[in-house]
Amino acid sequence: MLKIEPYRPQAFIDFTRAENVQAYQQALAKVRAEQLGRHFPLIINGQARDTAQRLLSTNPCDTSEVVGSTAKATIQDAEDALAGAWEAFNGWKTWTMDARARVLLKAAAILKRRRLEACALMTLEVGKNYAEADVEVAEGIDFLEYYAREAMRYEGFGAAETTWYDGEENGLMYLPLGVGVSISPWNFPCAIFLGMLAAPIVVGNCMVVKPAEDSGMIAGLMLDVLMEAGLPAGVVQFLPGVGEEVGEHLTTHPRTRFISFTGSRNVGLHINEVAAKHKPGQRFIKRVFLELGGKDALIIDETADPEVAVTAAVQGGFGFNGQKCSAMSRLVVVDSVYDSVVGKFVERVKALKVGTGEENAGVTAVVNQESFDKVRSYLEIGRAEGKVLTGGEATGNNNGKTGHYVQPTIIGDVDATARIAQEEIFGPVVTVLRARDWTHALEIANSTEYGLTGGVCSRDRARLEQARAEFEVGNLYFNRKITGAIVGVQPFGGYNMSGTDSKAGGPEYLGNFMQLKAVTERW
Ligand code: NAD
Repeated sequence: MLKIEPYRPQAFIDFTRAENVQAYQQALAKVRAEQLGRHFPLIINGQARDTAQRLLSTNPCDTSEVVGSTAKATIQDAEDALAGAWEAFNGWKTWTMDARARVLLKAAAILKRRRLEACALMTLEVGKNYAEADVEVAEGIDFLEYYAREAMRYEGFGAAETTWYDGEENGLMYLPLGVGVSISPWNFPCAIFLGMLAAPIVVGNCMVVKPAEDSGMIAGLMLDVLMEAGLPAGVVQFLPGVGEEVGEHLTTHPRTRFISFTGSRNVGLHINEVAAKHKPGQRFIKRVFLELGGKDALIIDETADPEVAVTAAVQGGFGFNGQKCSAMSRLVVVDSVYDSVVGKFVERVKALKVGTGEENAGVTAVVNQESFDKVRSYLEIGRAEGKVLTGGEATGNNNGKTGHYVQPTIIGDVDATARIAQEEIFGPVVTVLRARDWTHALEIANSTEYGLTGGVCSRDRARLEQARAEFEVGNLYFNRKITGAIVGVQPFGGYNMSGTDSKAGGPEYLGNFMQLKAVTERW
């Protein structure tokens, strides 16, 4: 068995220290000099393959800048990728768990060395500020380290105990499923992309991976890392392309054994539906893992420490511009402290600096035009459904830079049934709801179809215990922000329309990608 120290999450870089800020800026300059305009081809069976058409990555904080490009896979490329992955599976499934884990551990070591390079590219490609990019690359490293160790638990017959039966030997074997498809979002283009492929491959599956259209470069960089770590050809087929084209082809393909999807509710439900349809020649029922959106609420009651509560609200609501599935998009405050808490919250949000990721602004631009248009339309709806307490405009430019800028916005006194209190906006817009009391606050928090993250700021022990039991979310936090789950520490996944609760970064996650065989020998 592989000898390694126990898993421990990566520490984050402290950007209050001038030397760390300087190192980040040097990494940005280096990436600008060496990688701006870089093109990432497909990788099929370990070989680079280019396509006639390309997908361009533009800097959301300065849309005049093209950061680089990826190939744009065709249906034929998707066919070749799937066929190649099944071929590679014949060899990869025979590797021991330890041997596969070594590839992940080496990749983690390489990514640690290239941490700031990955961060800097992410800043340019999707507009993350320094800390947001850093915690994400740290999470990517954590997934590699954590799943490597988890896989080792499944070696041989030891992983699942069976009951002794006289006259026989009985045992359970864990086996990989085959070839899966991973379809990932742009908002965690390093960590989620890596985690969604690392878990299935370390237990012996092969993957066709389709990153989101807006973040193909950072995904391409992760492929560089995996290949440098010695990942055999064909185990991961890199297939950037359009979701509705190659994504749809892959999820409906009869040779796709399982689908791991993280993205929006509507696309997820569509995939669930089409993946369930049997195709001629299809030999299995596809497993489908869906991790979707949220309308996540933080409750602040009259016993809460106002400083702790308001800090949690600002961080949870506006970290990466609210573009997190876990973002606090609803703030529920009990009536007796509503005016004072919301007043403080508004003051803090007014002080947030809007700017580019490169300037390390607190709030940057939203990812693309489609997102910008969507947020803008919700601002209009919000003006009718509540009172704009700060922000409210999608300006589209900031300090002379043309980008997808939206002012950090808070809309108060919104009814719990309003659209902006029920639908995921996915931008820097927080809806504030007034609750009569604690009971009403919990009722409001549970009143959407989603159930991803949630939080309570309170010093009332009985209320925290009630929330522990009754707050219907996959990830619940008390007296802190509701974002920033750490691999192995807070396994992540939502309830209800937020997903299938597969709990990425948790002790059961690898089991999703294996099947058990019970073997009996009569003596
Ligand atoms: P999206 O649903 O638009 O796209 C996600 C992926 O699906 C992309 O790679 C896209 O190309 C692909 N896709 C689109 N149509 C497809 C189709 N018909 N068939 C197959 N693939 C298709 O989501 P997004 O805008 O990239 O990401 C934001 C969403 O993701 C938000 O709703 C957010 O809450 C959610 N999210 C959830 C989690 C979680 O863990 N629950 C984590 C991150 C993001």
